[in-house]
Amino acid sequence: LDADEFRRQGQQVINFIADYWSGMGDHPVRPNVTPGFLRDQLPTDAPPMPEPDAWASALQDIRDLILPGMTHWQSPRHFAHFPASSSTAGALGEALIAGINVVPFTWAASPAAAELEMVVVDWLGKALHLPASLLFAGGGGGTLLGTSCEAILCALVAARDRKLAEVGWGRIGDLVVYCSDQTHFSFRKAARIAGIQRGYCREIPTSLDDMFALSPAALKAAMQADVDAGLVPLFLCATVGTTQTTAVDPIRGLCAVAATHGLWVHVDAAYAGSALVCPEFCHVVDGVEAVDSFSMNAHKWLLANNDCCALWVKKPAALVAALGTEQEYILKDAAAEGHDVVDYKDWTMTLTRRFRALKMWLVFRCYGVDGLRDHIRSHIRMAAAFEELVRGDARFEVVTDRHFALVCFRLLPTERLGGEKKANELNRRLLEEVNTATLGPYMSAANAGGIYMLRCAVGSTLTEDRHVREAWKVVQEQATSLRGKMQI
Ligand code: PLP
Repeated sequence: LDADEFRRQGQQVINFIADYWSGMGDHPVRPNVTPGFLRDQLPTDAPPMPEPDAWASALQDIRDLILPGMTHWQSPRHFAHFPASSSTAGALGEALIAGINVVPFTWAASPAAAELEMVVVDWLGKALHLPASLLFAGGGGGTLLGTSCEAILCALVAARDRKLAEVGWGRIGDLVVYCSDQTHFSFRKAARIAGIQRGYCREIPTSLDDMFALSPAALKAAMQADVDAGLVPLFLCATVGTTQTTAVDPIRGLCAVAATHGLWVHVDAAYAGSALVCPEFCHVVDGVEAVDSFSMNAHKWLLANNDCCALWVKKPAALVAALGTEQEYILKDAAAEGHDVVDYKDWTMTLTRRFRALKMWLVFRCYGVDGLRDHIRSHIRMAAAFEELVRGDARFEVVTDRHFALVCFRLLPTERLGGEKKANELNRRLLEEVNTATLGPYMSAANAGGIYMLRCAVGSTLTEDRHVREAWKVVQEQATSLRGKMQI
């Protein structure tokens, strides 16, 4: 750790990143490479000795070898999946985290880091209009984790242990968890890790008629069937903004039904949680006061670079009961005894943790809650414009309601194509053509209710109106060319 060297090399790295950002529009969003392209170009062993002028040559290799093999998630033409939100404050926050490099597993291990995390999760929760009961200020509390997968797993084991303490530890094999067929796979994975029997994760079917939202009546019926079979309903993972189509599960109705069997209700708002910073979106979490836990990824759409997933729980004691540990070698600070401080290692699976609060704090300080609202609203506006363009072309349809900044659309089948059955194949081909167009947009797909659709997710920090218009033009051109080729 030589400060002078750091200053010198750091300047090069900052310049490199700034050049990368400013030239982002020149890169095809996706690389044109074949498997093995990079491995074939790199030595099979690490350098035994430091390389002379390692930084200069490594940066050159990043420019020549690595970047051409990347999918550029920060490209203004990246409309696939969900965004990986990036900002100056987020990126420099990451640099500060790495430079300071503490391990805040207990309050004593880094008091300011633990306290900043407590402050920032309350700031974030308030900015998202979450109920006070989920915040430290209201008796709950939050933490910053890496991913929603971790958040959901932590909530699930807290719920599991609370339920088993009530019904008896021997009944782990009887626990049943609930979600919809649109819930992210991370919940199924969490259920497996948490010891829920295979087959005891009920994926309740949804339909286009309900815009792929989970029906409280269907949940009620599924739970009743399980209770009648002598099983123990444990947990509902509801989603606000599903991965495929941003469907919104009705929290109030689901919580009312879940309460009849004492389910722990978790809301996974990995993507759409960021939109709650705007009051006009708060209706999508109507009834959220009744949930037990809530998570969202600030790194998806709230300008906090990877990674930053916030998890709030109403009863932190349940998390600590499931995940807390006592070890002699982890010293407690006498100064902390009897005070309202958090040992965050007891809120998650890992001991080593990152100082993510610093980054989120910088994002708030640099952009303010108002700035974050502007950021979300600009993407919503661009997505609405894209939706209008789709609706203006009779060859296409918008398949699902647009709740946030994702438009799910498809090319309609024609008589000559052979009707609905062939539509999926047609749209699969359209997506392929769109994604291989030179300097074209990069979009992804959803397949819900048997309908294959293209997904245009507006959310890159660099995206402007013109990128959206250009993206649509490419879609139209490729559709015309494809229909010509297929003679439909
Ligand atoms: N939940 C939803 C609704 C998602 O869309 C995603 C990812 O896109 C996840 C969970 C998983 O998030 P993570 O990668 O942070 O675990």
